[in-house]
Parts: sequence; structure tokens; C-alpha cells
Amino acid sequence: MTDDILYSIRNLTVDYKTRAGIVHAVDNVSLDIRRGEILGLVGESGCGKSTFGKALLRLHDGPASIPAGELWFDGRDLMKVPMKDMPEVRGAEIGMVFQDPMTSLNPVQSILEHLTETIQAHEPGTSDAAAKARAEELIERLGIRHERLNEYPHQMSGGMRQRVMISLALALRAKLVIADEPTTSLDVIVEAKFLDLLKELQEEFGLTILLITHNICVVAEVCDRVAVMYAAKMAEVGTAEEVFGAPKHPYTQGLLNSVPNIDMDEIELYKMGGEPPSLLHPPKGCRFHPRCPQAMEICGQQEPSFEEIANGHRTACWLYQAHEAAARAKEAANG
Ligand code: SF4
Repeated sequence: MTDDILYSIRNLTVDYKTRAGIVHAVDNVSLDIRRGEILGLVGESGCGKSTFGKALLRLHDGPASIPAGELWFDGRDLMKVPMKDMPEVRGAEIGMVFQDPMTSLNPVQSILEHLTETIQAHEPGTSDAAAKARAEELIERLGIRHERLNEYPHQMSGGMRQRVMISLALALRAKLVIADEPTTSLDVIVEAKFLDLLKELQEEFGLTILLITHNICVVAEVCDRVAVMYAAKMAEVGTAEEVFGAPKHPYTQGLLNSVPNIDMDEIELYKMGGEPPSLLHPPKGCRFHPRCPQAMEICGQQEPSFEEIANGHRTACWLYQAHEAAARAKEAANG
């Protein structure tokens, strides 16, 4: 693992035990998160992206388990950390912002209490006055007047609660913030402000952010790199310029073509046919092949590996793999 990688996820699998059988909600996925970047993780609902985000904190319970994988965070494998010690990692090293922060905030605690408790737990010995001063400084930095610190979570708007969650991560000086669909419940103006804020915090605090969303426009707005997930597998990873400017995987191409573009003369959007597959019985070979306009014979027979096609730009597609290139050349030669 090189120094610029903060979190290296290797061959991660997350299973759900259901009555009908085992569902691999994340299936042998590897991904690197670089220090100081905003990495967007995008894909349709049910593709496994939120399960992936929670697994990075080992926040799985009940029917979910992690049967395989390594989670190398800042030099140590979190899979080897005893579960009883994971709460120290969550928050102190990795903060999480959910779509509905009400589920993470204590409804009977004021925002001031949330922040001062967090600051004093993380930095024992901090006086009440110093903790309050830091809480005021943080909340003002996030665009909320400090007079509102005495309010309770239900008295704040959805956008403000999201900012409170970020302020808690900053109070702990977390190295990574995982934001799962943070803007889904916000209107477009508040969403734009929230995304601007993420960008500012990344630059000001050197924060590393994993932004999980189904909305590819959100990713285009702020992310340095983009990871595209399909049916529990990684389909493509690259810089925002590579993935948006020259997408390689036909699924990424379909996602981008189905987004309205302001330069279009007429509203003529691409509609991706079919539905994402059941993860209980995923199709053999490439999981996208039943919907892929460029599918070839091999696609339904063998799974393509996740290969590098340019420096750091990876995709799992037979169109870019030597094996298929050779097969097609042979086909062409045979007429
Ligand atoms: Fe389409 Fe085949 Fe590539 Fe899958 S491997 S995305 S089916 S061309």
C-alpha cells in the first residue's frame, strides 16, 4: 500500500443470509481511497454501494456478514480489530453521514451537547468552556449560526442536520468521512450548497470523502475520482475526467447517456433496457450482459476481470481484454 492510499479495500465480500439462500451483496470488490480525495461511488439502488460503505466500518449485523476481504485503513487491517474496539474507529477515524441524520443524532440532546461531549470524549481534559468555543467555531464554519447550538435535532432542517453530522466528524478530526446519499432528502439549492461545502472542507482540512450516491450528477459536481458499481461488482473506476469524458464500461456509458444534458436540442434520453439482476441468482459471466448493447458470446460465459486499461483507470469488460481482442481477431480472420 503506497502512502497516498488512505483506505485499501481488498476482495471484500458481504453476504446476507436470506430464507431463499445467501445473497452476495458485495462480491469480491477491491478499491483504493486516496488521501485528500473525494471519491464518488455510484450505481443503481440495490447494487451494493451502501452495504459496501457500511462494511468499511464493519457496521453489519443481523443477517449480514463479511466472509472475506481485507480492510487496510491507514496501515492496519480493520478486519483484525476486535469488534469491541470498532466504536473507537467509527467516528474518531472514520465519520459517517447518512441520508437521514436523525437516525444518528440523539433527539433529546442539543447540538451543543452532541458536539461538546464528542470533543471532550476525544480530547479528555478539554474544559467545558474550551469545548463550547470549539463547538461554536465548528458550527459557524459549517454555515450555522452558533446561537442555534442550543437547539435539538428536530428543530433543524435536513441540510443543517447533515452539516451537524459533518461537524461531529471534524470535531473528532476523522481522516475519512463516508457520506451515504447525503443529499437525497435535500432540495436542489440546499444540495448545491452542501456539495460546495464538502469541496471547501476537502481543501481546507485535507478531508478524504467517500460520497455514495445513485445520482451521477452529484458525483460530477464534486468528485475527483469515480467508482461505478453494478450488481455487487465494481464495473469501472477512474478520474472524473476519464469516467465522464471517456467512459469505457457500457453500463457507465448507459448511465451517463440517460442523464439530461443542457446542450441537447431535444429531450431524447437513452433508456437502459432491462432491470438489474437478482443477486440471489446473478447471471453467469458478465452480470451486465442481459442488458448490454455490446454483449458478445463470451460475455454470457465468463466473467471479465477488473483490469487496468490506463494509469489507474480500470474496468471489468471483455471489450478491453486481450482474450476477447484475440478471439475477435480470430473471428474476423475466419470471415
Ligand atoms: Fe457488455 Fe460484455 Fe462488457 Fe459485459 S463484458 S459490459 S456484456 S461488452
